[in-house]
Amino acid sequence: MALSNYVKSADFKNEKHVPVITAPDTVAAGEKVRIELEVGKDIAHPNTTEHHISWIKLYYVEEGTTLPYEVARLEFNVHGEAGAGANEGPVYAEAAGVVVASFKKSGKLIATSYCNIHGLWESEKDIVVK
Ligand code: FE
Repeated sequence: MALSNYVKSADFKNEKHVPVITAPDTVAAGEKVRIELEVGKDIAHPNTTEHHISWIKLYYVEEGTTLPYEVARLEFNVHGEAGAGANEGPVYAEAAGVVVASFKKSGKLIATSYCNIHGLWESEKDIVVK
């Protein structure tokens, strides 16, 4: 089966793995737009050496097309690892970040996120370009 069969989606209010996209509904052509991406916005996701979000990727699909462009990828590379042992380290990357992009045409943002033990999740948000 294709990978797409294993990418899960759900309402982020009930499911902690879903990447939340916060962006304006309508933008001007060429305007710089801040797009916030976060897993665990409403329901916290664990952030430990054993269980964490590894990355969030953002894609854009122009309206009326089926080609996703990869816009950005956010990698979260430290989760309490240390020589002293799991979760003994001094720093944890949190599964959140901001991407700045501009658009010429209306379309759909699609975010995917990866939990190291619960797999792939996605969500989407339409953006209208005036
Ligand atoms: Fe998980």
